[in-house]
Amino acid sequence: MAVKLPIYMDHNATTPVAPEVFEAMRPYFGERFGNPASGSHRFGWTAEAAVAVAREQVARLIGAQPEEIVFTSGATESDNLAIKGVAQAYRDRGMHLVTAWFEHHAVLDPCQRLEREGFEVTYLPVDREGLVDPDDVQRAITPRTVLVSIMLANNEIGTIQPLQEIGRICKTRGVLLHSDAVQGVGKIPVDVNALGVDLLSLTAHKFYGPKGVGALYVRSENPRVRLVAQMDGGGHERGRRSGTLNVPGIVGLGKACELAGQLLDAEGPRLTALRERLWAGIRARLTDVHLNGHPARRLPGTLHVRFEGADGQALLAALSDVALSATSACSSGSGEPSHVLRALGLPAALALASVRFGLGRGNTEAEVDYVCDRLAQEVARLRASGVQPAAPAVRAGE
Ligand code: PLP
Repeated sequence: MAVKLPIYMDHNATTPVAPEVFEAMRPYFGERFGNPASGSHRFGWTAEAAVAVAREQVARLIGAQPEEIVFTSGATESDNLAIKGVAQAYRDRGMHLVTAWFEHHAVLDPCQRLEREGFEVTYLPVDREGLVDPDDVQRAITPRTVLVSIMLANNEIGTIQPLQEIGRICKTRGVLLHSDAVQGVGKIPVDVNALGVDLLSLTAHKFYGPKGVGALYVRSENPRVRLVAQMDGGGHERGRRSGTLNVPGIVGLGKACELAGQLLDAEGPRLTALRERLWAGIRARLTDVHLNGHPARRLPGTLHVRFEGADGQALLAALSDVALSATSACSSGSGEPSHVLRALGLPAALALASVRFGLGRGNTEAEVDYVCDRLAQEVARLRASGVQPAAPAVRAGE
């Protein structure tokens, strides 16, 4: 079957807005333009009602209560609000946080800022398959620890963390647990109570919603989590995030949550089957290919592969009709192996020979087969040319 080019296989970076989401948002750019904080007229009430529906839609997808949802500009803001907001609110209790080396920079950088302000942060390692050991979390917690932040699923290799176990440990030790669940929400079932998380970040553009809008879940009972707002102003979102609400974006986020909830049962197995077809197709055509990440505990649509002897960037350039990436969108183009692959202990040359495939709603078997054929051609050509991944002047694990 003929495929339409170019093929998009970079859904971990972002996803297209679903047509249903776009249609739901449209009136809020037009006649329903009101400000939800305008309590004196129907323009405001209409907007407020739409935000209330969206809050319920988001809450339902993750098993939360609507009042536990704080709308933000995306996961970077949600992560910052969770980490700095909790650290500042509980600083009298202790100034120690625990996270892992392979977190997204939206988690690592706020932690590093807190360190400059006098907080102490423990960065846990991950094993070769990208898993945090819950025993390491147990050992890292001290009487001064106020927050543990561990992502649900990694954006590069897709490894799904044992969050439930980590949640139990945090609960027993009386420490709050935050999770950057950006790559998991909408792709795998997420329930804040089953996972035992107290704060959870999500962003619409990773599951067919618009860019620039996200949410932070903040537990309201057992325990009631306190936060210091990072954006001061009109006291929106119960004082936790000031700023006029992005009503069209929030409506889109809500619709994207509703849609993801409806499609989850069908899309999960479909994407897992496509991912396995891709991996089997690559192995059938090429030798010296290896999986990065965990073989089983993995996001349905994520495949991260090392093509030994082929430079990842050169491969991406050669595959100009397929949108793939070698690392996260934020780190791509730096020419250095990502901190995630280095955290796995991969030598720089092998990390640089790696490519991430992010399958999503639009991808088909015919596209997967096409990509396998093109990969086979281009990897063989690159290997024959003798151009090796150029190891930069950094040591793995540095
Ligand atoms: N956290 C993870 C794991 C991500 O993959 C991303 C992706 O961009 C972010 C945070 C940042 O999200 P946003 O683009 O909404 O700020």
